[in-house]
Amino acid sequence: MSNLGKLKPWNPSIPPELFSLNISSKLSTNSDDIKESSKDFGKIVQKILPAAVLYPSCANDIIDLIQFSYDLSVPFHVAAKGHGHSIRGQAMAQNGVIVEMNSLNNNNENCGVRVSWDSDLGFYADVGGEQLWIDVLRSTLEYGLAPVSWTDYLYLTVGGTLSNAGISGQIFRYGPQISNVHEMDVITGKGELVTCSKDKNSELFFGVLGGLGQFGIIIRAKIVLDKAPTRELKKLVQGLNYLGGFMFKKDVTFVEFLNRVRKGQIELELKGMWDVPHPWLNLFVPKSNIMQFNAAVFEDIILRQNKPTGPILVYPTSRKRYTHPPPHQPPSFNIYI
Ligand SMILES: Cc1cc2nc3c(=O)[nH]c(=O)nc-3n(C[C@H](O)[C@H](O)[C@H](O)COP(=O)(O)OP(=O)(O)OC[C@H]3O[C@@H](n4cnc5c(N)ncnc54)[C@H](O)[C@@H]3O)c2cc1C
Repeated sequence: MSNLGKLKPWNPSIPPELFSLNISSKLSTNSDDIKESSKDFGKIVQKILPAAVLYPSCANDIIDLIQFSYDLSVPFHVAAKGHGHSIRGQAMAQNGVIVEMNSLNNNNENCGVRVSWDSDLGFYADVGGEQLWIDVLRSTLEYGLAPVSWTDYLYLTVGGTLSNAGISGQIFRYGPQISNVHEMDVITGKGELVTCSKDKNSELFFGVLGGLGQFGIIIRAKIVLDKAPTRELKKLVQGLNYLGGFMFKKDVTFVEFLNRVRKGQIELELKGMWDVPHPWLNLFVPKSNIMQFNAAVFEDIILRQNKPTGPILVYPTSRKRYTHPPPHQPPSFNIYI
């Protein structure tokens, strides 16, 4: 994370005084911890090691760490790590400190997942940035409610996907996950805990959402909920026109549908094929270029040259579904992802 407002060279390492702070017992320089915290799912970027790992039990531990770094004439890198499912080392901090967000989960006094209602916002959940989406789903379903926008895979943290975009099949209707957040508590690069929303500290709000962890650490997000859909397959296909041969039908529960990648994960793990490099690529393609993209990639590379490929997911969407104001929104076109 950058220390906002302080354009200084980065410290090549952390000063020993860090270990005299109150958080010293929550810092580790153990080589196994260092190795573990510097892994990600992509397995492409390797050996970017932090000097220490922080296992915070509350937001104040993270505040202490960041304030200490900010007050130095030469600060060090700090990176929040959610579930480490980045592809290119986004949660790494060379010679700095990685904050293992998951350890906030061990303290019941933290936000967790709290469902509420009010007349302005309707149903919403206050969710800790460290929470996995699968746990958000389970907790909100206890009230017959669920977030409206998802990722295909649910073993990712709220802070991790809100730092990207959070994109899945619901995007054409509800927009990405970052367009379904009312408010956040964020620790800034100065180590201040700030509440932000589109009306309050809005620059921070829109910077952090989709900000790749560079503008602050998300401690709490207030996210939009709606009634969880019930199982109404017949109703859903009623009135649809389609060619019989192209119909693919699978009747699953809401949770089975949202958690569908988990099954594939377990199968790949059994074959030793989950823990391998993942050179994945995410692209926004404007509507004006989608035919060109189709000809160059799908027809020329994949079909004509018969290049082997893994899954390719295409999500048509519209800029209207992004609530970010300029300059935080994609350029003005309909897009395919
Ligand atoms: C199997 C798989 C399927 C996926 N499917 C989808 C999908 O369908 N749609 C989609 O949009 N994405 C998808 N992704 C990508 C995923 O959303 C991102 O890689 C996401 O960042 C991973 O979350 P994480 O908790 O593992 O974050 P990490 O990898 O730990 O961190 C990602 C970034 O977020 C920052 N960060 C983490 N926590 C916080 C926090 N609390 N506050 C501020 N910054 C923070 C980190 O510093 C880093 O820059 C998928 C990834 C995998 C591995």
